[in-house]
Order: sequence, then C-alpha cells, then structure tokens
Amino acid sequence: MTGIDDLPIRDELKGKSPYGAPQLDVPVRLNTNENPYPLPEPLVQRIAERVAEAARSLNRYPDRDAVELRTELARYLTRTAKHQVGVENVWAANGSNEVIQQLLQTFGGPGRTAIGFEPSYSMHGLISRGTGTGWISGPRNDDFTIDVEAATKAIAEHAPDVTFITSPNNPTGTAVEAETVLALYEAAQAAKPSLVVVDEAYIEFSHGDSLLPLIAGRPNLVVSRTMSKAFGAAGLRLGYLAAHPAVVDAVQLVRLPYHLSAVTQATALAALEHTDTLLAYVEQLKQERDRLVGELRALGYEVTPSDANFVQFGRFEGEGGAHAVWQQILDRGVLVRDNGVPGWLRVTAGTPEENDAFLDAVRDLKKEHS
Ligand code: PMP
Repeated sequence: MTGIDDLPIRDELKGKSPYGAPQLDVPVRLNTNENPYPLPEPLVQRIAERVAEAARSLNRYPDRDAVELRTELARYLTRTAKHQVGVENVWAANGSNEVIQQLLQTFGGPGRTAIGFEPSYSMHGLISRGTGTGWISGPRNDDFTIDVEAATKAIAEHAPDVTFITSPNNPTGTAVEAETVLALYEAAQAAKPSLVVVDEAYIEFSHGDSLLPLIAGRPNLVVSRTMSKAFGAAGLRLGYLAAHPAVVDAVQLVRLPYHLSAVTQATALAALEHTDTLLAYVEQLKQERDRLVGELRALGYEVTPSDANFVQFGRFEGEGGAHAVWQQILDRGVLVRDNGVPGWLRVTAGTPEENDAFLDAVRDLKKEHS
C-alpha cells in the first residue's frame, strides 16, 4: 500500500501528521476554544439576506481587496481597541491561520527563521514548516509568562525573521504585558529588521486591553485577529490583521487572487452589523471563565490565570498523567484538550450547563481519588 512517505513529498513533511484536535461525538465538547453560542436568529436571517445578494453576482469574482469588509473591520478595531485604524491598516483572509501563512510566505520562507515562546499556539511552528521557514522554540517561565531576559537573549542569538507573541496565549491563557512586547520588538529590531506578530485571537476575552495601539510608529509590528472566537463564527473562516499600510501592501504579493469568497465577505459583514449582541455573549463567557477558574481552584486544582475563553488546569503528575485524566473526563462525557503540555489540560468555557457538566466530571474524579 502506498503511503504518504512513499510519495515524492518534501523531506521536511516526511513522517509528520496533520494538525487537528480529535472531533469526537461527545455530549459536551470543550476542546477547541469555540464559542458555545450559535449565532442569534436575527443575525442568521441577515446572513441569509446578504448571502442571497452576493449570490446574484456569483458569476463574477469577488471584490479582490475586500474593501467594504476591511473598512468595517477597521471601524470595529477603532471602536474597541482605543486606536484609530483605517482600511489601509487592515488585511483579511480565511481565518487567522491564513493571515499567519501569508505573513510567513512574505517575511519567512526558505533560509529564514521564526521564533515562538512555547508552549504556545502550535500552528505558528507548523505553518512555519509548511512555508519552509525554520522554527525556533523559545522559552517561557514555569508560570507560563514570557521570560523577557531569556526571550530577548534567544532573539539576539538567532536573529529570527519573524517573532510570534500570542496574547492571550493558547493553551495557557496568559496575557502578555505591553512592556514585554516592546522589549521583544526592540530586541528583534536590534538583531535585524524583522517582523513581530502579536496573535490576539482571544483578546476580546481579556481582562486587559488590546496591544493594537503599539503598531503606531512600528511598521514591523503586526496584530492578528479572528472572528472565530469572540464573534462565534469559527465556521466562517475569517481572520484579519492590523499593521502599517506597507505590511498590508506586502502580503498582497503572496495572497491568491480572490482568496476571500463573496459569500465569506457577505457573511462577515452581516456578523459585524451584530457586533454588540455578539460582544454581550463574550461578557457571559468571561464570567463563566472566571467561574471555572474559581471552582477548579476550590477543588484543589492548580489553575493558570486566564485572559482567554479557556482555562489551563493541573497538575497531573507522572508521565502520561494528564492524558490519563483527559481520558477519565472523556469517560464522563466531556471532551477537554490535552495539548501535550506535561501535567496540564485545557478546558474551553462553554455554556453554564456545559461548564457544570465539566465541573461535575472533575468533582467526581476528585472523589474517586480521595
Ligand atoms: N491563533 C491562535 C492563538 C489560536 O488559538 C487560533 C485557533 N485555535 C488561531 C490563531 C486560528 O484561528 P482561525 O484560523 O480560526 O482564525
């Protein structure tokens, strides 16, 4: 039987597996940091209207530069992130994964390197590999904050072409201070002019503010965002970035023409019309996240402070300890995530009922082991 590795694929892909959390059919799924609330019915109606309108001209290619959508995204950012941005500062693609891919195609690539501070979002490393960019795994403190001294040292040593900073970080939930981003940006630019990407996929859930204002006067700093989490639209596949207009011009060197379909653009525009309703769900999820943190601590678990819509909890001793607990929680009908961080698991904040089911499961486990 011919397998992948028998094909003449690129050497660096040999023996690798595709990224993806298990999509298991379980009553309570709290494993992929999705928003548990379906889009409200008036928004579903509005999407149907806007998509019908788009369908009438599907014989034509879509707006290649997605000007209306980028204008509305800029308006959203200006309103929520306390920093004025315009259409020229914003670029959009199919999920922030594609935004990251376009950035790596433009600023990374063969002979170049990217660095991230792990554990963090593993796709930064995987998309680096996919674009032929060398990956450097930088350090973190034991409490999962970024060790600024060690990070700036690693940047000075490797002079990477792209530096990833995820805030709030996935899978730990850790927010990054503006001073840390500035220190890493300075270190990166001192090593050589290079791109610094702040991945703010979860920023709407944070106790603190977006780092977006830092792009002012820093043309090599990019903030990436997504509608997958706060907007409850993971199925839409819409990510975007904010940066100096030159960065927006640069990524157009690699984007496929008409990469954002007319249907995607119409749907995202409809969702943006309902921003206030969707952000009200975010407030509920933040409360549920804080409740999970409190209740897990009360049960005796260690919990990493979280600014995201998920919570990292542990510690589970011994090799495979976390995975054994993951299975025991799954046996009770609740799917959480084992991100491979030794001793820790991650649970996404769901609806109050889903979170209760999760808390019942871990309470049950505690009882069994006491
Ligand atoms: N960045 C981070 C930190 C993430 O956790 C995710 C999704 N899990 C993404 C980016 C990608 O999200 P999307 O492609 O759905 O926008």
